[in-house]
Amino acid sequence: MAIKHYILHMYRENRRYVFGAGFFIVGLTLGLSNLLFTNESEITPNQNNSDLVANIENLETPNVSDEMSDDNISNIPVATSVSNLPGTEPLTSEEAESLTFEKNDTEVFAKELRIKSGQGLMDALLDNGADRSDAFNAINALSDHFNVRRIQVGQKLDTEYTPDGMLTSISLQKDFDNMIIVERNGDQYQGRIEELPSQIITRHSSGIIEDSVFLAAQRQGLPQAIIVELIRIFSYDVDFQREIRRGDQFEIFYERKISEDGRNVQEGDILYARLNIKGEDIHLYRHFPEGRDFPEYFHENGQSSKKALMKTPIEGARLSSYYGSRKHPVLGYTRMHKGVDFSAPTGTPIMAAGDGVVERASWFGSFGNYVRIRHNGSYKTAYSHMSNYGRGIKKGVRVRQGQIIGYVGATGRVTGRHLHYEVHKDGTQVNPLNLKMPSGIKLTGEPYKEFEVVMNKIQTRINDAKTHILLAKSDDKVTDEITP
Ligand SMILES: [Zn+2]
Repeated sequence: MAIKHYILHMYRENRRYVFGAGFFIVGLTLGLSNLLFTNESEITPNQNNSDLVANIENLETPNVSDEMSDDNISNIPVATSVSNLPGTEPLTSEEAESLTFEKNDTEVFAKELRIKSGQGLMDALLDNGADRSDAFNAINALSDHFNVRRIQVGQKLDTEYTPDGMLTSISLQKDFDNMIIVERNGDQYQGRIEELPSQIITRHSSGIIEDSVFLAAQRQGLPQAIIVELIRIFSYDVDFQREIRRGDQFEIFYERKISEDGRNVQEGDILYARLNIKGEDIHLYRHFPEGRDFPEYFHENGQSSKKALMKTPIEGARLSSYYGSRKHPVLGYTRMHKGVDFSAPTGTPIMAAGDGVVERASWFGSFGNYVRIRHNGSYKTAYSHMSNYGRGIKKGVRVRQGQIIGYVGATGRVTGRHLHYEVHKDGTQVNPLNLKMPSGIKLTGEPYKEFEVVMNKIQTRINDAKTHILLAKSDDKVTDEITP
């Protein structure tokens, strides 16, 4: 107790200097960070934050990385506009003195604490001098907004006490956007959630794939969460295990959320991404069509990236045999029919059930003339007994959904002309008629026009981003990679 009183006494005697120095340091830091972080060419006061385009490259000044290194966010773009914050100028000593802290009820002692290993919230508060029943009641109020049992080691708590040691408030950051604040009100504690200000910036990056998309993206400084998302959104179109070759390229334009103090970053949505595989571009734009439940990724023709495989890859055909066990028409014994048969006149066109790569287009024993298409990492479709192959259909060729890959025939072991169609999921045949694949939409008419507007906006922003990178970077490492 004696020590506490002594500290209090010293504090009271000297607080004017403590506060003066404190304000000076805060002011100086803000002023300095203002100089470091504000890039005049990129930020005008009224510019919409989301339009600020971050430039990855000009972050390489050691000052900036040092400033932010503790959160491993040295790649934060510099678009943080600190000039809007109060106190960009250091206070003069007169100003500091003019601030009064005399009123008793505003006099508080702030104490920052962190949960240590093996410590609960209660222990942490008690160890820092809170009264047991105060701590209990405060935790109770906190638990309205937060599962206090789940508190993590290292969690930061800002606590405040009156001069005589009464706990008056606790605040802790719940997640990126929310702060929980518990305050003493009379002899009770009340908790509330306060939304934290943040801003969204965008980042553009591109690279050439030497080994894998993952490594290439990582080399460009893309955070893991974004790389995973990049792979996910393309997984309907691309088989990342087999299709990616050295020299293929990626481009990505995505959002990051940055806390007002610039210290915390949360990765946001990918707005646009492009993969160039064997010289061919696949573009995806994020778009939230009116009347839909979720935003999705769309190709420039308005087709959602989530494409269903066609259950019937042939027009004007009659379903002549279902999937399941049946007596084999030629061999006589009962066996599993691992596909569905469509009866149609010889020469009827057969379509690729989905976008993909032709894995085989050649004679295949009892299947006769046979085509198998790999659509993505888990789905393949196979087409048998064809009289002929579609134009240009051979192993390794990329096909689009609906493209003609062959014609109905009666090659192989058959009793009559038909298409035997199989869908393979993760290496085994499944019933094509029971496919539970996401059914992708295709935007046409007015919804497509709305999507076009979104596409154009995104492209304009990307062009701005590229311009900034070109201006900021004098050696051509990046410009090389941004061939339009
Ligand atoms: Zn069959």
